[in-house]
Amino acid sequence: MADFFDVIVIGGGPAGYPAAIRAGQNRLTVACIDEWRNRDGSYAFGGTCLNAGCIPSKALLESTELYHRAREEFAVHGIKMEGVSVDVAQMQKRKAGIVKASTQGILALFKGAGVTALQGHGKLLSGRRVEFTAADGAKRELTAKHVILASGSVPVELKCAPFKAPHIIDSQGALELDSVPKRLGVIGAGVIGLELGSVWRRLGSEVTVLEALPEFLAIADQQLAKEAARHFKKQGLDIRLGAKVTGARVAGDAVEVAYEDAKGAHSLSVDRLIVAAGRRPYSADLLADGTGVELDEHGFIKVDQHCRTAVEGVWAVGDCVRGPMLAHKGKEEGVMTADLIAGRFGEVNYKTVPSVIYTAPEIAWVGQTEEQVKSSGRPYKVGVFPFLASGRARAMEQAQGFAKIVAARDDDEILGVHIVGPMAGELIAEAVLAMEYSASTEDLQRTIHAHPTLSEAVHEAALAADKRAIDSLNR
Ligand code: FAD
Ligand code: NAD
Repeated sequence: MADFFDVIVIGGGPAGYPAAIRAGQNRLTVACIDEWRNRDGSYAFGGTCLNAGCIPSKALLESTELYHRAREEFAVHGIKMEGVSVDVAQMQKRKAGIVKASTQGILALFKGAGVTALQGHGKLLSGRRVEFTAADGAKRELTAKHVILASGSVPVELKCAPFKAPHIIDSQGALELDSVPKRLGVIGAGVIGLELGSVWRRLGSEVTVLEALPEFLAIADQQLAKEAARHFKKQGLDIRLGAKVTGARVAGDAVEVAYEDAKGAHSLSVDRLIVAAGRRPYSADLLADGTGVELDEHGFIKVDQHCRTAVEGVWAVGDCVRGPMLAHKGKEEGVMTADLIAGRFGEVNYKTVPSVIYTAPEIAWVGQTEEQVKSSGRPYKVGVFPFLASGRARAMEQAQGFAKIVAARDDDEILGVHIVGPMAGELIAEAVLAMEYSASTEDLQRTIHAHPTLSEAVHEAALAADKRAIDSLNR
């Protein structure tokens, strides 16, 4: 193996591995170093996303949604099911198979793009040298023209509720439960709390979610958040807002959780407690003294809008830098960086990073919320179309939620799109594309949408912004 590369990427998650592949496509010599190890000790590329995040969570969300629908919704279609039951071991086996195929797929992609895969620890030394430590402890010094840091993030551990497996667990532990806990507590009604709370609720757990903030989904459009909260309540997710956890201790086979809200101090007894209180950037043993790479006060690697650190030739992308902790945001940063290194054009439009929460109904948005537009002072208009009026959603027996468009009153530019309903995560792609091209609601209004599709809801929401919706009352 060579000791010199055009590019060395440290971290092979969804930010790092695409950076390496694009560098290879750009005909640069590239190595990608990753130290992720599975519980059995084996190495795997793909980072949090493929091994313990996006992919396994979506596999379990899919399985449990099918189970829920078979039990609760098939009858209305005229499909009679008897004796529907769950085999958690099989569900977990399917999930593990998907993860394995996906992570092994990266090795094949690396081969195709000419990327040298190095499994072990990477540490940036001064002068764009990288120390690589293999599994057997053997160290080797590599040099590169450019180094891309993509070391990712890890779950936040709360002082008041330290992890203590198998009772007090993080998201990875919550994805690996081998049976359905009778009583499940979740700290944090954020994305992980809602997705993993839904998984285990659908399988029968009594789920209580404790959220410190008084508002539900404070980062989302509040009309959307209220609609989503209504559905979660109906599903039996007990979400307690303004509930700040102050302590958690394992007592026998249970966890006693203490929390405070406006009414005072409370306690909650659960069988398992998931701590989903956010993630923090990870950079343990990544930077030797004297590299010149700086961290901010929260531990993020400091970068400019093109992911350059203060050190010439050293870049950083993904969860270890500012911005939303999302796989697709990291991927675009990785690709941009590899293109800039090769002297090509590269840019990430941070205004059009979509957010998706894969609950049922799904929640997705891009751009500004109505509250943000309102506080900006720019005159605006809103178009809302309920899925109840969508023929396709009704045929699917999933006519819940709505599509909402917030647009400028002066030039009609689309400023934000917010969807809660079936396949919202897929529908939002049209809104992202529209906003990427600075589309107006009129552009969407004049775009033909196939009938009957869920995407007609986005079309009709654009029409509703001018009170010209055809399939719903323009109120
Ligand atoms: P990571 O995926 O964390 O990868 C970093 C990699 O670098 C790891 O493999 C790590 O071992 C390695 N590494 C770190 N330091 C070193 C070193 N010094 N040497 C060698 N290797 C090193 N995001 C979405 O967009 N959609 C979702 O649906 C979604 N679902 C999620 C569900 C869960 C349960 C969780 C926890 C997260 C989810 N996320 C989702 C967030 C997503 O996983 C992260 O945003 C994404 O993985 C960040 O990518 P990354 O490459 O920056 O970091
Ligand atoms: P989050 O920031 O989405 O939510 C954490 C929640 O925990 C917050 O609402 C916070 O107020 C609450 N909290 C913190 N301390 C608390 C305490 N002591 N008591 C009660 N509540 C408390 O974080 P997360 O859900 O852990 O997710 C981490 C990251 O992973 C997110 O940035 C997210 O973008 C990413 N992720 C994305 C997806 C997706 O895109 N579908 C899925 C999962 C995770």
